[in-house]
Parts: sequence; structure tokens; C-alpha cells
Amino acid sequence: MMDAKSIVENAIREGRYFLLEPEAKLLCKLYGLPVTEFRVAKDLEEAKRYAKEIGYPVVLKIVSPDILHKSDVGGVVINIKDESELVKAYNKIIDNVKKRVPNARIRGILVQEFAPPGREVIVGVAKDPQFEHVIMFGLGGIFVEILRDVTFRVLPITKKDALEMISEIKGYPILKGYRGEPPADVEAIVNIMLGVSDLIKDLPMISQLDLNPIIVYEKGAKIIDARIILETS
Ligand code: ADP
Ligand code: MG
Repeated sequence: MMDAKSIVENAIREGRYFLLEPEAKLLCKLYGLPVTEFRVAKDLEEAKRYAKEIGYPVVLKIVSPDILHKSDVGGVVINIKDESELVKAYNKIIDNVKKRVPNARIRGILVQEFAPPGREVIVGVAKDPQFEHVIMFGLGGIFVEILRDVTFRVLPITKKDALEMISEIKGYPILKGYRGEPPADVEAIVNIMLGVSDLIKDLPMISQLDLNPIIVYEKGAKIIDARIILETS
């Protein structure tokens, strides 16, 4: 298995300044972060085999150095329940990509575990010219996009910082549970934030990291999409 530094060096050697989702997720996994289980298939037969190994339902996604926003080009199909759906989804993705990004180099199709719905949060990192790396936490979807209910700290952070961040957003009651809803696994979110803090300490050439969304359950959490951008100089 590749180590963290070689994943980044390999991308730079190819002249790429962002990691492909499977690279970003492998990097996260090396730091103990709970990413959805995944394999990269090079053809339909392999996709069928990996889906069986991972277990249905699964998700298929395009893997291409020329595509950063996969669903914008019809490159993501979720909640695939059996092999006949898988075949359709596979062909659909290849078809969509060939139509919408005709020159895209296709590295394969990512087969991954489908994560059932739950409460969504996001963890991000940006490199601020003054403060260096800053970590962001918020609830997913409209909470971040419309209400801007997010909080920031300069990295590295401690467990106490992470707990403070989680409890100081306005939407915290949604995580804590209200009207009889059980609490979401805050400890799992803390561990993700501390893992991200360690990852950035070791790999300061990362200029941006987005774990969006992370689905949090009563027990545990799953990182659904991971995007990592590298510094260009
Ligand atoms: P994009 O590159 O367009 O951001 P994503 O990987 O984020 O592609 O997939 C788009 C959306 O599909 C996600 O925001 C999420 O709602 C859903 N999704 C993706 N992967 C999974 C998964 N493994 N389980 C459940 N839902 C998923
Ligand atoms: Mg995404």
C-alpha cells in the first residue's frame, strides 16, 4: 500500500494539483479516518466483482484527472441495488462522460459502499496567507451554503478545540438530538477533526481539503466525498 507522501508526490509528478477521490480517500484512511470502502475498477467485469465484494447497495463514480466535479458531468450514480442496475449505471456514466467531457482521460470507475442517509457535517481546511492552515466545521447542505453556520480554528487543534467547535455552531442541537431524536456520534466527528489536524501537519503542501459530506450516525460516521488540492508552487 502507498504511503501518504507518495500519494501526493505521485500526483505532482503527473502535473496534477489535486488528488483523485480514491487517492484522497486512501490518504484519509492512512490517518484512520472512516471513508466509505472503495475499489477502482478498470472495466465492467471488475466493477461487478468489486460490488459483490463490497456488498450492495453500492455507488459508482468516474475517476478522471480531467473531472473535479463528478456529478456535474453525470459521473456519479448512488444506491445501486443489484448487478443489473450496476451494468446500467456503469454504461450510463461512461456515456455521460464521453458526451460531456469528450477528451477526459478515464482512470477507471470507483466502486464504493453506499452510505445510508443521516445527519450531514463537513470538515474543511484552507490555507490562509496569514494564519497558515485553518480548519472549518459545520453542518452540511443549506446550513453551510445558505446560513453560513460554520466555525474556524487555526491548525493544529486539540480534542478540546474540536469539541468546542462542534458545540458552538447554531445547529448543534441537530447533532445533540432534539424531540426524542438520539444524539449523533460527536466523538466520531472529533476523531475525524483530529485526524485531519495530523494529516495537515505531515503534509503542509495541501492547500485545501474538503470532506463534504460526512454522514454521522448514532454510532460512527462515513466520509462520502474527499477533495484535496495541493499548493501550486
Ligand atoms: P462530486 O464530485 O460531484 O462532489 P460526490 O462524490 O460528492 O461527487 O457525489 C455527489 C453526491 O452523491 C454526494 O454529495 C452525496 O450526496 C451522494 N453520494 C456520493 N457518494 C455516496 C455514497 N458512497 N453513499 C451515499 N451517497 C453518496
Ligand atoms: Mg462532493
